[in-house]
Amino acid sequence: MSQEDSPGESPSGEDPGLFDKIVGLCKRRGFVYQSAEIYGGFRSAYDYGPLGVLLLGNVKRQWWRSMVQLRHDVVGLDSSILSPPAVWEASGHLENFSDPLVDCRGCGARHRADKLADPGVCPDCGRTGALTEARQFNLMFSTHAGPVADSAAEVFLRPETAQGTFVNFMNVLRTSRRRPPFGIAQIGKSFRNEITPGNFVFRTREFEQMELEYFVPPDESERWFRYWCQDRLGWYLGLGIPEDRLRLRAHPAEELSHYSSATSDVEFRFPWGWDELEGIANRGDYDLSRHAECAGERIEYFDQAASDRYVPHVIEPAAGATRAAMAFLTAAYDTEPVGAGERTVLRLDHRLAPYQAAVLPLSRNDRLVPTALEVFDRLKGRWMCDYDETQAIGRRYRRQDEIGTPLCVTVDFDTLDDSAVTVRDRDTMAQDRVAIDRLADHISEKLTA
Ligand code: ATP
Repeated sequence: MSQEDSPGESPSGEDPGLFDKIVGLCKRRGFVYQSAEIYGGFRSAYDYGPLGVLLLGNVKRQWWRSMVQLRHDVVGLDSSILSPPAVWEASGHLENFSDPLVDCRGCGARHRADKLADPGVCPDCGRTGALTEARQFNLMFSTHAGPVADSAAEVFLRPETAQGTFVNFMNVLRTSRRRPPFGIAQIGKSFRNEITPGNFVFRTREFEQMELEYFVPPDESERWFRYWCQDRLGWYLGLGIPEDRLRLRAHPAEELSHYSSATSDVEFRFPWGWDELEGIANRGDYDLSRHAECAGERIEYFDQAASDRYVPHVIEPAAGATRAAMAFLTAAYDTEPVGAGERTVLRLDHRLAPYQAAVLPLSRNDRLVPTALEVFDRLKGRWMCDYDETQAIGRRYRRQDEIGTPLCVTVDFDTLDDSAVTVRDRDTMAQDRVAIDRLADHISEKLTA
């Protein structure tokens, strides 16, 4: 296991092997692979395999559903990843988006000074007094646009989606006919040249964010800040993260960014302890005012009824999709004794599970397979279904338990006579015999129960 996979200390009461078990399951079952593994692995980048892409897609879908689809006051946006320096000059990222970096004179390792357990000791080689003074290291990735790689062509990969939203504020205001309070939601990749990526997909240099910028009249900002803190906490709880693994942590004054009047993090109890899942910040009018000033454009809302012109304040719930996926996996991971052995079961909410159902012919028998494929065809339009005809049925059940599939549908020899199948529940392992004609209704009832 490479250094960036190292989980650090386990909090008391936690299974000390949990982190390794989750990483192992992700690799073994095809959730997450190390990037460029056949070339020795590319540090701190990961590829999402057949199951990971489904899980991550479901996390994003649920966020979008909650933030956009179920709200009348939020619209979506997908802004570009590459952007010119002007955007990042205005936002303050070119000047301030940095972390304190220290080098170890002994072993040459580099660390983020604010994350060291003991600021005097190198965590790699254990030497005391060998760390240099901290210097600021900018986290922005730059590249060049066009055929000539000179400084005039320098562009940046966005380190957050939010600035793409702010620079489009007037476009969206004009075209979407919204008025504050209203929000613009965005999901997409962001890039940060992290000094110490680590803990598997928790901190990587390329990751996905789910960010809402919610624009409000200035005198309503505190109320909306409190509202979004509770709403976002509720989102994770509603998708199955238990209360004792989640908390809201308000930043003390010294931790606040200069433009933020309040920030709270939704924190999750990861195998190595409490850590950030999402930050909710009251950003005031900082971003819109900075872009107005730097671009020389009017960026404001004109309230015709009140004949009032103002720069909306922004409440920003900013979450990580890849971090959230890891939290959902961690919270769902369970083992329990069955018979003489043990089974691993991912108790994922069905809305997040890669597959909602698996169709399994009892064997590869010529008479069972066509019927099983017919059953698969009946279900595939409504749910993401797996189809698996290899190995003994018991081992296939264990595999589906381990990847979190809520229901297994087994086609056996009786099916050929009674046109019914066995539906097995992941959590209770209870089995129901269900007529194929009623199967879709049965699955729908089970999944919404
Ligand atoms: P941290 O303190 O962990 O570096 P941050 O406070 O800088 O995070 P924000 O800028 O608030 O993070 O970004 C919003 C969210 O984006 C975070 O809560 C996290 O879920 C996600 N995120 C940020 N950086 C990374 C990263 N390097 N890898 C994966 N997810 C990230």
